[in-house]
Amino acid sequence: MKINIDGLEVYWPYEYVYPEQVLYMTELKKTLDAQGHCLLEMPSGTGKTVSLLSLVLAYMLRFPDRLEKLVYCSRTIPEIQKCVEELRNLFNYYSEQNGAAPEMLALALSARKNMCIHPEVSAERLGKVVDGKCQQLTASFVRARRRLDPSIPCCDYFEAFDADGRDVLLPDGVYNLDELKAYGRKKGWCPYFVARAAVQRAQIIIYSYHYILDPKIAELISKDLTRRACVVFDEAHNIDNVCIESMSVTITKRTIDRCSQNLDTLGDYVKRLKETNADRLQTEYERMVEGLREAQRNRETDRVLANPVLPDAILQEAIPGTIRTAEHFVVFMRRVLEYVRHRMRTPSVLVESPAAFLRDIQARMAIDRKPLRFCAERLASLTRTLELADLSDFGPLVLLANFATLISTYAKGFTLLIEPTDDKTPGVYNPVLHFSCMDASIAIRPVFERFQSVVITSG
Ligand code: SF4
Repeated sequence: MKINIDGLEVYWPYEYVYPEQVLYMTELKKTLDAQGHCLLEMPSGTGKTVSLLSLVLAYMLRFPDRLEKLVYCSRTIPEIQKCVEELRNLFNYYSEQNGAAPEMLALALSARKNMCIHPEVSAERLGKVVDGKCQQLTASFVRARRRLDPSIPCCDYFEAFDADGRDVLLPDGVYNLDELKAYGRKKGWCPYFVARAAVQRAQIIIYSYHYILDPKIAELISKDLTRRACVVFDEAHNIDNVCIESMSVTITKRTIDRCSQNLDTLGDYVKRLKETNADRLQTEYERMVEGLREAQRNRETDRVLANPVLPDAILQEAIPGTIRTAEHFVVFMRRVLEYVRHRMRTPSVLVESPAAFLRDIQARMAIDRKPLRFCAERLASLTRTLELADLSDFGPLVLLANFATLISTYAKGFTLLIEPTDDKTPGVYNPVLHFSCMDASIAIRPVFERFQSVVITSG
């Protein structure tokens, strides 16, 4: 049936509509008209998703100049798939009524783990292993090396996509993850990169919260989305936890030990590169002096380490001199590590503010705030220069660098807590450091600022 919601004709793919659904759509329309944000609640199981999709789709078709995109974020893969099916049902209804479905592209997007079709890589179960193996096959420097030495393995699906698929537009329609995989298999192209390339053009994107909220991933996937978008967080009752988790870091004794090994490995790589190809380190150094470290940003297959959350103004600055050379940076990280190790040797629970931490590290180790801030960025640059394709083993070092960046960037909204034992083994010395975000608004604020309408909805 077709319903009139405050002057807007909304296609409704069912025979009955509840008054709550009409009310929900009316409020949503007001939000879109006002180009503002809203918080909407409706009991679970009363058809929230279909109300939302019907109204926003009708609005996009009627006012394409006001609203260009719907970005629908959900928590789990089944929820994402469910939303795609509701949308397909709605498209079918348009098709029945008008003889044609809306000329739009709608797709789901997920991590490589859920989209990869490479026989060996897709057999891995852990997401970070799949990412690492994929990067070993597709990173730009690996491919450059392969041009000289064809025995270096590659992913045929990525190569075929790169050669033929980039400029081919995914036909309009609704795609769930399985359909994207089927399309990828049929064409011989990697579905993950097909979907990523289509995100800019798609009018409706359905993916996980993390693609918008976690700054490390958002920068990679959602950076260029238009402002004229409606971003929906569905099942948002725990959105504050997701925000908080995306900005919090936990470091254990094991992290510290493995971090130390990571730094040894990194130091060896730097030494070897210096002996074999010192020019590359020099070029990196010069790039930093000029503040051009973002030049490589757009290499879609390489950038696996992104900064947790550095405000743009800071990103425009050049990397501080003390950590510009690769060797200095490794030494600097060792000092940070030693300091953190020392701080974790506490006999009782310790709670501290970021400001107190920064004062102490400056007094004891003469480490300033500014180079700390750039640790994540500097590490990302170094791993690119060293052409480390698989970074899954460097997780502990990435964590430490993220911690250094976060604690030196945010004076408010965070707390540092060090416990001498962890919950699982009370009584046994096993220190844990939690750097916890206490203010969910820090992660969500940039989303509110960036997009025209943000809808937080739950049952
Ligand atoms: S490029 Fe695609 S198909 Fe190939 S390994 Fe990576 S995710 Fe898998």
